[in-house]
Amino acid sequence: MTFKDLGLSPPLVKAVEEKGYTKPSPIQEKAIPHILAGKDILASAQTGTGKTAGFTLPVLQHLVATRHPKYRPLRVLVLTPTRELAAQVQDNVREYSKYVDIKSAVVFGGVNAKPQIATLRSGVDILVATPGRLLDLHDRKALSFKRIEVLILDEADRMLDMGFVRDINKIISYMPAERQNLMFSATFSNDIKKLASGILRNPVSVETAPQNSTAKKVTHKVYKVDKSKKTEFTIKLIKDGNWNQVLIFTRTKHGANKLTEKLVKAGISAAAIHGNKSQGARTKALKNFKDNSIKILVATDIAARGLDIPLLPHVVNFELPNVPEDYVHRIGRTGRAGAAGEAISLVCSEESEYQSEIEKLLNEKLASTIVAGFEPTDTDPPKRAASQSKGSFGKKNKGGGSQGNKPKSKPHFKGNKPSEPSGRGRSNPPKKKRY
Ligand code: AMP
Repeated sequence: MTFKDLGLSPPLVKAVEEKGYTKPSPIQEKAIPHILAGKDILASAQTGTGKTAGFTLPVLQHLVATRHPKYRPLRVLVLTPTRELAAQVQDNVREYSKYVDIKSAVVFGGVNAKPQIATLRSGVDILVATPGRLLDLHDRKALSFKRIEVLILDEADRMLDMGFVRDINKIISYMPAERQNLMFSATFSNDIKKLASGILRNPVSVETAPQNSTAKKVTHKVYKVDKSKKTEFTIKLIKDGNWNQVLIFTRTKHGANKLTEKLVKAGISAAAIHGNKSQGARTKALKNFKDNSIKILVATDIAARGLDIPLLPHVVNFELPNVPEDYVHRIGRTGRAGAAGEAISLVCSEESEYQSEIEKLLNEKLASTIVAGFEPTDTDPPKRAASQSKGSFGKKNKGGGSQGNKPKSKPHFKGNKPSEPSGRGRSNPPKKKRY
């Protein structure tokens, strides 16, 4: 199967070939024909599957075929949860539309709105946006949704997590009822299904991987290590493994800053990316990470969501996420585009329960290892009495340590804020979804 076989026109095929894509990815193969046929789509696809080209190419083809020669109303809207994802999606749209007369733009918060307004006034066919800034611009009459023909919701699950459901519904209320809707989501909770049923009309379901499954070539590794030893252990992993490009996840912004500082002190180039960083600092950190001028990017879940970092060999969970689906999102950044990847989690006794939740979601036990010199000691006192034996964390937890020792109360992270505040100044996103 080639891009041409999918029915895409020569200028679009030329643009993707120049990007070095030799054949369509599975999501592209499955989704493009339906989108070209004007169908609504509900697609389960993580970042890294090529979903952006999957929706952009057929939409471009539609726009070119039906473009009015004299004026350029806004006809396609792509909504994304984060600024970084919005910028990335528009970069892709721009590249894929290189040989066609279609204009795209991106708008998101945290930066001056004036240039965005000027761009919109000059005429844009495809707009990529985060919901908050989009509504601000709409309120300021910088754009109209009246001519929207295609609405794309990218990373819809994260948009719900970030509390954007009301904004999304408001935006949709300004649009013509007659339009094509494409929804992409990595996970399919009941909330997502509910949102989908309110927006999509007779959607075609497109699945590229079983629900909540992780990329096939990812190896999961769990290191049992005390919380107090995690930084030292991370430095050891990076140095011993000679790692040059690692994405490390922390649960909190404070944790991301602290770890970054310590890595830099240990002579490892690193930057943090989270919601308290300015847009400029986030963009710079991501750029430096992508072009290898820094080795380590320390990120919170929200900041890292949807980042396009190709061929990442290692993702480290410095702390396990307390929402198991976030584990799937996090490790979606390794083992991409057919390359093998390693998802490494540092798990202290307090996090055993999180690990069990993740294992339940993945339907897979994550193999645990103990490294000499980093044997866990911070288990519950009575259980610590059991004999310790290195590297033997069997199912029955014969080896002692923290494996299988469920905390008596819910895990907690002393001194850290609960989780990163979400977009548009909404504080503390719900652990349990709000909708
Ligand atoms: P996405 O899932 O849209 O974020 O895409 C992930 C990465 O895969 C991006 O770096 C794309 O440039 C790349 N990509 C998209 N489609 C293909 C393809 N057919 N072949 C190879 N790489 C692709």
